[in-house]
Amino acid sequence: MPKKNKSSKVARAAANIKSRSQTQKSYTAPARLQKIFAALDLRFPRAECALRHENAFQLLVATILSAQCTDERVNKVTPELFRKYPSPKDFVALAQEELEQEIHSTGFFRNKAKSIIGAATRIVQEFGGEVPRTMEQLLPLPGVARKTANVVLGTAFGIASGVVVDTHVFRITHRLKLTKQTTPEKVEQDLMKLVPQDRWVSFSHQVIWFGRKICFARNPLCAECPLATLCDSPDKTV
Ligand code: SF4
Repeated sequence: MPKKNKSSKVARAAANIKSRSQTQKSYTAPARLQKIFAALDLRFPRAECALRHENAFQLLVATILSAQCTDERVNKVTPELFRKYPSPKDFVALAQEELEQEIHSTGFFRNKAKSIIGAATRIVQEFGGEVPRTMEQLLPLPGVARKTANVVLGTAFGIASGVVVDTHVFRITHRLKLTKQTTPEKVEQDLMKLVPQDRWVSFSHQVIWFGRKICFARNPLCAECPLATLCDSPDKTV
C-alpha cells in the first residue's frame, strides 16, 4: 500500500475514535444527566423497593428469591414464608427440601433454598442474627452479589454503597447511552461516577420503576416517556 494511503487511513481511524469519544462525552454531560434526574424525580418522586419486607433479613431473603422472578411472584410467596419462619434462626433450622417446597414457584428453588439457608446460618453464627451493614461483610454470604447487597444496604439501612444494576437498570442505562459496559459490575462502576452518591439509592429505584412502567424491554411506551427528547436509542418506538 502506498505510504500516503496508509497514513490517511490511520488519520481517519483516529478521527473516528475521537468523534466516538466526544459523542459518548455528550451523552454523559452534566446538563444531560441533570435533565434525566429531574425527569425521573418528577415522574417517580417516591420510588421505593417493591419487595414486601419488614426488616433487613426479610429483604435479603426476598431479594435472593427475586432472581429470575418477578417481584409480584415473590410478594405472593413471602408473607406466608415469613409468618412461618420469622427469623434467621428459623431458616437455619429448616430442612432444605422443606424450604424448596415453600419457594418452588419463584423458580431456581434448589439454589435459592441453599443460598437462603447458607446466608441465614452465617448471619446467626457470625453476626449474632443481625444482617451486617457493610458490602465487605455481605458479599461473602451465599447468594449475595453486589446487586443484592446494594438493595439491602440502600433500602433497609439507607446506606448508599453503590447503584443497583438489575435487568431494568442495565437495559435503560444502555438505551440512554450512559454506559457501554457489558457486565452489571462494570455498568455499576460507570454509574457510580455519573450519579451523585446521594442519588444512588433513589436513582436505582426510579430506573427500576421506569423500566416496569414505561421503558419495557419489548415495545417501550416511548410516546409517554419523560426522557424521549433525550433518547436516541434504536429501540425507540416513536
Ligand atoms: S424514549 Fe423509549 S426507549 Fe428511550 S428511554 Fe424512553 S421509553 Fe425507553
